This record gives sequence, C-alpha cells and structure tokens, in this order.
Amino acid sequence: MSGLIDQFGRTIQYLRISVTDRCNFRCRYCMPLEGLPWLPKSDILSYEEIADVVRQLAPLGLRRVRLTGGEPTIRPQLSRLIAMIRAVDEVEDIALSTNGVKLPALAGELATAGLDRVNISADSLRSDRIVAIARRDLGFDPVRAALAAQAAGLDPIKLNVVVMRGTNDDEVVDFARLTIEHPWHVRFIELMPVGEMEILTDEHVVPSDEILARIRAEFGALEPNAGPARGNGPAAYARITGARGSIGVITPMTHTYCGSCNRVRLTADGRLRTCLFGDHEVDLRTPLRAGMPLEPFVRQAMAEKPEAHALLSRRNGGLRALSQVGG
Ligand code: SAM
Ligand code: SF4
Repeated sequence: MSGLIDQFGRTIQYLRISVTDRCNFRCRYCMPLEGLPWLPKSDILSYEEIADVVRQLAPLGLRRVRLTGGEPTIRPQLSRLIAMIRAVDEVEDIALSTNGVKLPALAGELATAGLDRVNISADSLRSDRIVAIARRDLGFDPVRAALAAQAAGLDPIKLNVVVMRGTNDDEVVDFARLTIEHPWHVRFIELMPVGEMEILTDEHVVPSDEILARIRAEFGALEPNAGPARGNGPAAYARITGARGSIGVITPMTHTYCGSCNRVRLTADGRLRTCLFGDHEVDLRTPLRAGMPLEPFVRQAMAEKPEAHALLSRRNGGLRALSQVGG
C-alpha cells in the first residue's frame, strides 16, 4: 500500500488530533471571552472512533500523533485514548499539546498509558499575567507543570510562548534563562492574527528576529542547530552556551515553512484538515460511522492539500480560531 504523498510531493506521517473544542482557559489570542458555542457531544468523535482513524491511517504511513484541542486534558479519561493509540504498532511517537493546568495531577497517568512527550503553552512566568492572558484563574504555574512532566519521564519537554508586544515580550529573556538550568525547549511563537480578538493585530506581532536579538543581547551568541532529537515541526533551534535546554522560534508570520509540511489535522468533529489555515476539510466522520473504509477519503484530502497556508494573504477575518482547528 503506497504512503500518503500530496500533490506537491510531501510525505504525510504526522496527524494532529483535536480531542475536544472545549477549554478551561480563554486565551486572549485564541478564544473569545464568552459566546463560543461548543460542538454538540454527538458530533465529537468517540475515543474508539479516533483510534479507528489512527488504525486506518497507520498502514498508509502514519507514524506520529499529537493530541491537542481545545484543551485535551479536560476530556475525561484521556489516558484511555493514549493507550489505544499506543497499541497501534506503526505509531512511533505520541505527543500532547496542553495548557498544562492539569499536568501536575495527570502527567504520571498519561506517561504510563504511553504518552511520549508534551508541549506546554506558557505565555508568562508571572501569575497575574497568566490570569490576564488566559482570563481564568486556575493557579497555573508553568514551571511546576514542566517539572511534573519531567518527573513523569515525558521527554522532550517543550514550552510554547506566544509573544505579544506590550503583553509579555518583556519576559523573553526570563523564558530563555529557564533553559540554562532545565533541559527544556522554549519555543517562541509569532502571534498569528487569525480570528476576531482584539489582540490579533499586526502591532502585537513580535518578529522572531527581534526575539532572538533580545536573547543574544543578554546571553551572547547562540549555538545553532541545538534542538531536541525528537521533533516534527517547523521550529528552528539554538542554544545558550552551556545551557541544558534550547531555544526555538516558530515563524508563521515572517518565514514560511509550508514546503516541508508533514502533517494533517483531525478536528474534534471528525474532519481531516490538510492545512491549519484555509478551508480544506474532508469529512471522515460520516464514512467512519457508516463503516466505510477511510482510505479513499484520505487520498482525496491529500490530493487537495494546498501548497502553502493563506495566513499572510487573508489575515484578519474569515479564518477559524486555533481552538477550533486544533492549533
Ligand atoms: N490548549 C492546548 C494549548 O494551549 O497548548 C492545545 C491547543 S492550542 C489551540 C495550540 C497552540 O496554539 C498553543 O500553543 C497556543 O498558544 C497556540 N495558539 C493559539 N492561538 C494562537 C495565535 N493566534 N497565534 C499563535 N499561536 C496561537
Ligand atoms: Fe485553550 Fe489552548 Fe486556546 Fe488557550 S491556546 S484558549 S489553552 S485551546
């Protein structure tokens, strides 16, 4: 059986699965404060259905899975899904993207079920700011969450920081400093102006070159190509001399990386989305629930995967927030 190769010759081995559209945070760049309607429960794929998608994609070349959301850890019994995916022989790597709130309680259970690694969203090291950005006071402490993940044996541990001018850009150096003591990979993400929130405008975007310049001004020249051994994505990594961890930048706004895209996304309601930005979705839930094989639908999606994302050309409006499409 031939693998999944799109019309531009890119091999797809990586599936990001949104297990829920719901979240216990309301990050200013991701969700409106109020009024985001949740999908009805009956529209959401069950864990059995998600595992079925993974089993059907595995012979087509699927090797890596990331669970995301919304906030994946608020869906009950996430470890049950992880164990089901772990049982698929072809899957070499299972990762989780989380806001980290529940990691101190759940990291051990998730690791035991078969989770390999975790990305934690951490936009500030100051508790007042965390509450201002997430607009929920849940006592989140990013360092505590990362330590819990480390204690559970999850590796590598990545911290994702969405940098917003005038909100948290003065903490770039503090986040970079964490990598000296801890073997963590701190990734600075350029804010993407998708959706309707007031923070999503150009003046809040901090280009990655500026982020790296601030870090170099504090710590001197960075060692290049110093990232974690396991990674699937678009981050470029460097290291402060002598540091245990690394620093990465993810640059959707200033440098495109679509040419090496290796991923597709499964939305919580069972649509295969071939690009984070854009409207290219194929419904897998209907054939799945009708007991039909998914391969023809997946191949159709591959044939339609766009060459590059529409973020820079479409900008504000018209695009779904990342909480809805799985980040
Ligand atoms: N709730 C989980 C979390 O926060 O990690 C997983 C889902 S979240 C949508 C996935 C990632 O998308 C997070 O790292 C978040 O910071 C990022 N994200 C959401 N909206 C964004 C935006 N407008 N610009 C840049 N990154 C964004
Ligand atoms: Fe929730 Fe993650 Fe979006 Fe924040 S970024 S609102 S934690 S889904």
